[in-house]
Amino acid sequence: MKKLAIKVDIDTLRGYREGVPQMLDLFKRHEIMASIFFSFGPDNSGKAIRRIFRKGFISKMMRTKAPSTYGIKTLMYGTLIPAPIIVPTDPGIFVRAVDEGHDCGVHAWDHVYVQDKLAGISKEEFRSFFEKSANMFEKLSGRKPLSCAAPGWQISSVSLEVQEEAGLEYCSDTRGRSPFLPVFEGRSYTPVQIPTTLPTMDEILGLPGIDDDSIGDVWLNGMNNEWNVLTVHAEMEGLSKIGVFEKFIIKAKENGTVFYTLADYARDSAPGECNIEIGTITGRAGTLASQEDE
Ligand SMILES: [Zn+2]
Repeated sequence: MKKLAIKVDIDTLRGYREGVPQMLDLFKRHEIMASIFFSFGPDNSGKAIRRIFRKGFISKMMRTKAPSTYGIKTLMYGTLIPAPIIVPTDPGIFVRAVDEGHDCGVHAWDHVYVQDKLAGISKEEFRSFFEKSANMFEKLSGRKPLSCAAPGWQISSVSLEVQEEAGLEYCSDTRGRSPFLPVFEGRSYTPVQIPTTLPTMDEILGLPGIDDDSIGDVWLNGMNNEWNVLTVHAEMEGLSKIGVFEKFIIKAKENGTVFYTLADYARDSAPGECNIEIGTITGRAGTLASQEDE
């Protein structure tokens, strides 16, 4: 029996407004609880264009057909069009996810800014971002957030310190194989990290032999761990690829996969310490945080 948690990242206004409702419908149809991480504040997607100077960015944009995945308008937010504030445009979508029992947490206040500029963000600034998201979370749901997931798997000692001080139950900031207590640059942190274990669609779709028809099997065959975590994006698996995603869910259920949330993993695991290292991953531009190999 394989255990899988679906982790949904919401990065943009379009993903939130159009992708999330479709995903919630899908989860309802298949009686699945997911872990869903919201970008609450400004959608500055247009500014991501500065990543164009980063190795691998253009090939990824071409491979994943970024303009049609994200929408032309989204690619101008924060530059030619003022950045919209995501969740307040329709708080009901966030409230619905909470009410339907999903494991909801904080992805970011300003996803693009944190993903691209984290190294230069002070503790005070990072804390103010987290508090803005946490306050909106609490105002709308009546409870504090218990988890967060870093944009683009970017961490710093600052982000880990703020998350520790927030008293969260778990964080999902890393790639890896199993839950662990993080050690970064020689310092131990709480809470437990629940890493993403499988490659994301945007990393592998379009690689040799991996297309809409085969990607579900790639994920199923890659579920080698006792626990598996798949990160999906509201912008992709919630919109143009929702049919591909649903086919995978159906096949996974037929194969006896049991669905858990990251919160379930956090409660059921009693992990030891492991280092976080900053590395690279196939199909993704730049660096990210990974659980160190055994
Ligand atoms: Zn994200």
